[in-house]
Amino acid sequence: MYQEFGIEKKLEDLAVQVEKEIAEEFEKINQICEYNSLKVLKAFQKYHISDMHFNSTTGYGYSDIGRDTIEKVYAEVLGTQDSLVRSQFISGTHALTVALFAFLRPNDIFLSITGKPYDTLDEVIGIVDNPSSLKAYQIQYEQIDLVENDFDYEAIQRRVEKKDIKLIEIQRSRGYSTRDSISLDKMKKVIEIIRRVNQEVIIMVDNCYGEMVDIIEPTDLGADVIVGSLIKNLGGGIAPNGAYIAGKEELVELAAQRLTAPGLGKEVGPTLGINKQILQGLFFAPSVVASSLKTAVFASRLLEKLGYETNPKYNEKRSDIVQTITFRDEKKLIQFCQGIQMGSPIDSHVIPEPWDMPGYTDKVIMAAGAFTQGSSIELSCDAPIRKPYTAFLQGGLTYEYGKLAVLKAASNLQN
Ligand SMILES: *Cc1c(COP(=O)(O)O)cnc(C)c1O
Repeated sequence: MYQEFGIEKKLEDLAVQVEKEIAEEFEKINQICEYNSLKVLKAFQKYHISDMHFNSTTGYGYSDIGRDTIEKVYAEVLGTQDSLVRSQFISGTHALTVALFAFLRPNDIFLSITGKPYDTLDEVIGIVDNPSSLKAYQIQYEQIDLVENDFDYEAIQRRVEKKDIKLIEIQRSRGYSTRDSISLDKMKKVIEIIRRVNQEVIIMVDNCYGEMVDIIEPTDLGADVIVGSLIKNLGGGIAPNGAYIAGKEELVELAAQRLTAPGLGKEVGPTLGINKQILQGLFFAPSVVASSLKTAVFASRLLEKLGYETNPKYNEKRSDIVQTITFRDEKKLIQFCQGIQMGSPIDSHVIPEPWDMPGYTDKVIMAAGAFTQGSSIELSCDAPIRKPYTAFLQGGLTYEYGKLAVLKAASNLQN
């Protein structure tokens, strides 16, 4: 069967050995999965989720009990006062944009302490000119770069002591950079340092790809607000689109007023039949995140054995579901991404090519054989075509499908 699928015997044997070596990591992932499952189940029970919450509204979407209860369940799971979980958010970028425009006012200063934020925020912030950027509204931007994969704690403390910063952004996942993801230990330390000298500044975490990778979330460590996409971790591969903003009540309210309109806020927003999928997605999320982590751990060890640089290493503690593999060769990078596509359930017959995607500076190749367009909690692999030719692999609805696609991609490297 493996050979018919185009996976060489040599790789099949190597996979057996890899799985023995990673067994201990899988055990840790299972424990986190169980804990998060308990959290989700408790939240469902606390809010008496029942058939009526699978309702649907159209038009303005007044009095959508399913939507309102979903937001309570999300808040419970994420340990926050409130949340905004909406399909009217087009993507994670949109939710981050809504949050930034909701919390910041002209002449406010916005500080990123994890270096330059995710590529799609360049035009939102005004790092790349856009007449609708924060910069065009006189919102100033500053950044403090990471130093050797850690916060520049001293520089951060010095900068926030002045008390003129309105909002600090921490990006948990690495985005399209080769830095490590931010561990929750580091996040805890930096939040403590900030709070010691400044109680007012809003601490916002871009939590994309980070949800349920551990048993706590940044909001449990004192972050005021977190933002993420529903076609990533918390959508569990079932939510058809959307994003969330969760945190302090007054911040969620500001975000709602910005997403819809001042005066309307959370009261409107038709759910058009997706409440059941959002709830079912959250229900599956702990297990789907665990499958994604297992796929990443497997890929990390396998590709390392094949001679490529992988980050994180298979036995390193993770803070997101992203696995990078550095090929130092454009052709190999493209072959690997194409191999992931060949191993996917949807569109396995098409061959992805690098293209100029809106919001990104370099050409990007995206392997995405997913049920939901652009979903990256389903196994996906993308890469900006730039040195050192690093692929960003993430997702996996089940470990078995994830493993098969990784083996198929590894086989394709031999061509
Ligand atoms: C995915 C992601 C985003 C948002 O991307 P969308 O594709 O717009 O959902 C933002 N930040 C990080 C770190 C991400 O991984």
